[in-house]
Amino acid sequence: MSKLSIRDLSLNNHRVLMRVDFNVPLEDGRVVDDTRIRETLPTIEYALRHGARLVLVSHLGRPKGKPNPTMSLKPVAERLRMVLDKELARGENVGFCPECIGPEAEEMAGKLEQGQTLLLENLRFHAEEEANDPKFAKQLAGLADYYVNDAFGTAHRAHASTVGVTRFVQKSAAGLLMEKELQYLGKVLRHPERPFIAILGGAKVSDKIGVIRNLLDKIDVLIIGGGMAYTFLKAQGEPVGKSLVEGDKVELAHQLLKEAKSHKLKFLLPTDHVVAEKIDANALVQTVGSGHIPPNMMALDIGPKTIEAFTEEIARALTIVWNGPMGVFEVAPFAKGTFKVAHAIAENVGATSIVGGGDSVSAVNAAGVADKITHISTGGGASLEFLEGKKLPGVEALTDKK
Ligand code: AMP
Repeated sequence: MSKLSIRDLSLNNHRVLMRVDFNVPLEDGRVVDDTRIRETLPTIEYALRHGARLVLVSHLGRPKGKPNPTMSLKPVAERLRMVLDKELARGENVGFCPECIGPEAEEMAGKLEQGQTLLLENLRFHAEEEANDPKFAKQLAGLADYYVNDAFGTAHRAHASTVGVTRFVQKSAAGLLMEKELQYLGKVLRHPERPFIAILGGAKVSDKIGVIRNLLDKIDVLIIGGGMAYTFLKAQGEPVGKSLVEGDKVELAHQLLKEAKSHKLKFLLPTDHVVAEKIDANALVQTVGSGHIPPNMMALDIGPKTIEAFTEEIARALTIVWNGPMGVFEVAPFAKGTFKVAHAIAENVGATSIVGGGDSVSAVNAAGVADKITHISTGGGASLEFLEGKKLPGVEALTDKK
């Protein structure tokens, strides 16, 4: 990587401002899923082991620039204390400050001793965070000597805590989680082992156009499933009934199909479909072949022949990127295609597999195969932008390696 890593910093006795992604789900003031806290533990542990005085900052939810007690990071500090205590017996050294800038934050950060951690209140309680306000960024930077960004999930946003802050600290480096994300995603774009297959799904073509375009000259096989497949099938002149179609993207889908042909890549679309009149767990469900989606029905999952064809391709691949479900997997009768794809990826143990996007990540977790995926990306939007070939502002802003 061309950017500094936390491993390049001499942390001993220095104050480190670390941007983490503690945007965890809360219910009644309690953390219901601490995955994101655990994912950044290696970086926190590294900093503490090397004698840093650690100031953690994060956003949580969308408080729209105003304090909102339901989105306070206080319960997250409590959970972090528990997790650090269990994993590293360091729980007693985690403090919480009810502000992220100003005198109280400065005083508490100033008093931090080596090996101690302080979590500051939600950055997005201040509108200046998302506005990348330089004064706010300077105040954050004033809390530390070095800055470390471990929040890959927000690296595609130019906010005060991801970009602005880097102008006012001595050195800015990537945390271990950020490094891992960039390493895996970077490798698939630059040196993929072949065959390289991309599986895209989900509702909208418009969200994935950039990814398709950027991957066309890099991949060997493109599989498209989920709602977005029906805009492509319509572009091929197939009847799609009431299936999800983005009318203003049909022409573009037609163009992408042509481009795929000119790149000589294998482009697989569903050839049979699970259809119903409505998205309902009790709906009457049928499986139909291509060209036979009844006018009053919508296709809500891929059918068995499609599953078989997709599975065969997945089994042959050496690099697999998956983003987006193959159907309305949240509703049981339409979940099979997505889970079968998750299993097929997991069973290909020889391949490097990368799964990104909230829904595909939930699917591999629900299918119980998360441990068989090479890399599960923690940033849905950020990983998509990376795969689109865009530069991530939060990464660009880090200090270059000499
Ligand atoms: P995205 O956020 O674009 O990745 O889309 C994810 C959503 O797409 C999920 O909530 C799925 O229920 C939905 N989805 C997947 N396949 C279909 C389909 N065939 N028709 C309608 N919605 C779908």
